[in-house]
Amino acid sequence: MTQASAIRVKSTKHHPAVLISNRHLLPTESEQPDEVRELVIEVQEQDFVADVGQSIGVLAPMHGSSPEPWHLRWYSIADIPTKSDDGYPRFTICVRRHVQKDPETGLVYKGITSNYLCDLTPDEPLQITGPCGIPFEAPKEDDATLILIGAGPGIAPFRAFLKKLHRDRPDWKGLVRVFYGTRTGLDVLYTNDPKRDALLYFDEETFEALRALSPPPNWADPIAWDGAYSERGDELLKLLEQSNTYVYVAGLRAIGQHLDELFGSLMGSPKRWADRKEALIAEDRWAELLY
Ligand SMILES: Cc1cc2nc3c(=O)[nH]c(=O)nc-3n(C[C@H](O)[C@H](O)[C@H](O)COP(=O)(O)OP(=O)(O)OC[C@H]3O[C@@H](n4cnc5c(N)ncnc54)[C@H](O)[C@@H]3O)c2cc1C
Repeated sequence: MTQASAIRVKSTKHHPAVLISNRHLLPTESEQPDEVRELVIEVQEQDFVADVGQSIGVLAPMHGSSPEPWHLRWYSIADIPTKSDDGYPRFTICVRRHVQKDPETGLVYKGITSNYLCDLTPDEPLQITGPCGIPFEAPKEDDATLILIGAGPGIAPFRAFLKKLHRDRPDWKGLVRVFYGTRTGLDVLYTNDPKRDALLYFDEETFEALRALSPPPNWADPIAWDGAYSERGDELLKLLEQSNTYVYVAGLRAIGQHLDELFGSLMGSPKRWADRKEALIAEDRWAELLY
């Protein structure tokens, strides 16, 4: 396990790519306000390498008076990378369409790259860069405990991570606890409904996804984590004390700060949590992808 606390960019070179598919992630009956789409992108260079836990950069072309020709934004790899029949690498990303309304003026701002991606149609070319970040690695012990904490887009790499764990580690028997905060289509990937994605990989005794709701409209808004954690406070404390527990955190930087406060209060003192976290980091049992 490698600590990925900083966003490290391997290369800023542009790579030509093509969109393979673009689908809405929400079930049609959903009343969720957000739009999240799953895109599969094929890079037109056979030696482009990126893996689960990393993100790829998408360069949206800028037109008109923009001083920059491109608007670069990053998207986490949300599934195990594959290859086309011709050997070209394919990556899945989940993109939330970013739309923000100014509460005072009523003006609507549409995020450049997320809207560009959400509106892209199959076979259209695009430019990508990266990857950035360090791949998430599973612990060597098959009976380790994994605590995965993500919110909004931060949940995407965990879907890929769990799928990869299931594929590559048939003897895995450790506990998996996923804490996620989102009100988006990504929910469909992480429910305890046995028909849903994540539970297809693990049985109910070892795997549990615990949901914490984020108030609309913004992923950056504070998430009501407290309920999900205090419900499981005793179990969490026990797991955090064990020498085979590994913690992975992904999502907006604000989540990291909020978690520090929560765990500080769960442990009865911010100092006690700070010491525990420091030990987890020192023992290579803490990985984070915060941005
Ligand atoms: C490592 C990493 C991984 C990520 N993974 C994911 C992922 O898996 N999925 C995902 O959906 N996102 C992910 N993100 C976030 C993503 O990179 C983008 O930040 C997000 O999609 C918004 O980009 P955008 O170009 O659409 O919005 P931008 O155009 O960059 O705008 C973003 C915000 O800037 C402000 N703003 C800028 N200009 C104006 C203006 N003229 N008027 C008003 N407001 C303005 C607004 O607050 C706006 O909401 C990740 C980010 C990082 C760093």
